[in-house]
Amino acid sequence: MYFVDFLNIDTAFNEIIILNIKEIIDINNSLYKYSELIEYYNITYNKKVVVLETLDDVQKELTKYIEEISCGKTDHLKPYKHIYKDDYMYISANTLIQLELVKTAKEHDYFGSFFWYMNKTNTAMGRRQLKKYILNPIINEKEIYRRQNYIELLLNNPIIMYDLEESLKKIYDFERLIARVSESTITPRELEQLRKSLASIPNLKQSLDALGGEFSILNEEIDPVDDVYKMLCLSLGEDLPRSIKDSNIIKEGFNDEIDRLRSLKTNSTKWLLDLEQEQREITGIKNLKIKYNKIFGYFFEVTNSFLNKVPDNYIRKQTMANCERYITQELKIEENKILNASDMLKKLEIQVFEEIKLYVKKEMIRLQSLAHKVAFIDVMSSFAKLSKNNNLVCPKYEEKDVINIIEGFHPVVKQGLKTYINNDILMPEDVDILLITGPNMSGKSTYMRQLVLIIIMGQMGCYVPAKEAHLKIIDKIYTRIGASDDLAQGKSTFMVEMKETAEALTNATKDSLLIFDELGRGTSTYDGIALAQAIIEEVHQKIKCKTLFSTHYHELIELENNLEKLKNIHVKAKQENGELTFYHKILPGGVEKSFGIEVAKLADLSDEVIVRANQIMYQLEDNHTIFNKDTKQLENNNEQELELIKLKLERIKNLDLNKMSPIEVVNFINNFKEHL
Ligand code: ATP
Repeated sequence: MYFVDFLNIDTAFNEIIILNIKEIIDINNSLYKYSELIEYYNITYNKKVVVLETLDDVQKELTKYIEEISCGKTDHLKPYKHIYKDDYMYISANTLIQLELVKTAKEHDYFGSFFWYMNKTNTAMGRRQLKKYILNPIINEKEIYRRQNYIELLLNNPIIMYDLEESLKKIYDFERLIARVSESTITPRELEQLRKSLASIPNLKQSLDALGGEFSILNEEIDPVDDVYKMLCLSLGEDLPRSIKDSNIIKEGFNDEIDRLRSLKTNSTKWLLDLEQEQREITGIKNLKIKYNKIFGYFFEVTNSFLNKVPDNYIRKQTMANCERYITQELKIEENKILNASDMLKKLEIQVFEEIKLYVKKEMIRLQSLAHKVAFIDVMSSFAKLSKNNNLVCPKYEEKDVINIIEGFHPVVKQGLKTYINNDILMPEDVDILLITGPNMSGKSTYMRQLVLIIIMGQMGCYVPAKEAHLKIIDKIYTRIGASDDLAQGKSTFMVEMKETAEALTNATKDSLLIFDELGRGTSTYDGIALAQAIIEEVHQKIKCKTLFSTHYHELIELENNLEKLKNIHVKAKQENGELTFYHKILPGGVEKSFGIEVAKLADLSDEVIVRANQIMYQLEDNHTIFNKDTKQLENNNEQELELIKLKLERIKNLDLNKMSPIEVVNFINNFKEHL
């Protein structure tokens, strides 16, 4: 359970989304303005009027509430932890969604998310811890270097790292298991899983010791809780069932009475088998069987063909179609003993199992602390594995206001592509804003997202996707990328965009990172350009933080002449023989063309629309208006016809027949013919 300190209610609500909070208790009606979003995110919302003055009051009130809803079972709750948000980087909820940090934006799926990419953990506890780290990057440089140290030690000792992973793989989610001890719902099989987990700890500790350095220090802090392990070894059998109702849970030698009853039970079984054999011989009924059912208990079963051999002391109990069932005095006496023993055994096993649970429950805090350490080690080993497999590099944190990344890459996008072009992100002290121009689809968003992920990974303490990285500690990240869900109903996309921008501009400091992807495109061109320029100027003059700003308004590249800390960069693309080639390479300087119509052509917009769009564009460039007196005339003139034919011929020239099916070729010719 966490307490989180907030500066204001907006950041508080952001945190609610980030932490995936399932239920809110609003004690002074402060979240009323978020009711729509609360509903959207499916959060249970309770209002309570209580006067709370101190943190202690809050703790008491929360404990009372949890006791109410969980029928008093609260032992498994960890002690309250007071989180100071200032210890962590602030990630805006938009960043969380747009960067797909824990799930993909469209399908809300773990697969394909940044979390999915990062996750190389071997335990469920490590996986949960990793998610917390993604959502809470740290800002303490010392702690970042400490985590880097762990990774380095692991990378330098691949054999021990392998051993460590093998130990981790054998550890169950015992953090959850022990919570079930408190609720008393833990099954024998789950306690066996706790035992198996604890069995791995000595090996794990051995690996930590062998790794040395920071790991040795950590190792000394780890209490293996071996007393619980030993007790579970002595008391629990192997391959235990889910249900306590099945016997054979308690190990032989742990409880004398259980052993005695068990032997009585096994001896009786043998006695029954002997009796069956003896009776077959005495009576000559070769297929005589001793059977059991709930109504009659044990009985002899004799098939019809042997009925003449049934002795006098047999008492008939039931007649079946092809057999008769009998009991004897002797059989009934033994039955009593057997059933009593079974019954007592069951009861006693349950009682002893309860005692074992109680023993474990008493050590809950030690076990929780062990679980926490295992989770941390697992995350460090996950970082090391990821860094090794993906050629990540250890970032250095500079005192200066610098972000210099050499050959960086977007870790998730790179995984899905055959060839990925690495790019530098160079923001030395004298550059705060990079203004990125380039065609659609050239890789501007990817470039900007890659910076955010590098910053987050670095501040999680992990290595980062680059050949070299000199970074600064970032305190807050705000991103405005692409069209986001229009969450706040009734507001236009443009309105949402401006609200997000306002939030960023109000809260960012000189140590924040701002990402604006094509800001202002949801309104008219002039409004858009004006807003974009004003926002860039605000960042440049007042906030002075590192900012990436991509735009199709190539007019904005002129700003480089006025704003000294703004640099233009662009994504290389080339138009040759009417074909547009993307290089995904970031180069210095701006471009004055967006190639929007060319990209539309790639998207198979009809040739007629493309030719017409080109005409209008030329017209716009010449006269700044589409209401040219020649417009009507242009629609029908020969010039347009010629353009169209030229475009079609160009398409024929660029056809790659080897990649087309016969039907595609026929369709193409048909289409061309129809036009002619
Ligand atoms: P738009 O302006 O239309 O939003 P964009 O310029 O932001 O486009 P992205 O969405 O970043 O472009 O990238 C488009 C596609 O280009 C990506 O889906 C990816 O497949 C590819 N791509 C981007 N960057 C690279 C790269 N560095 N190397 C190789 N392929 C890349």
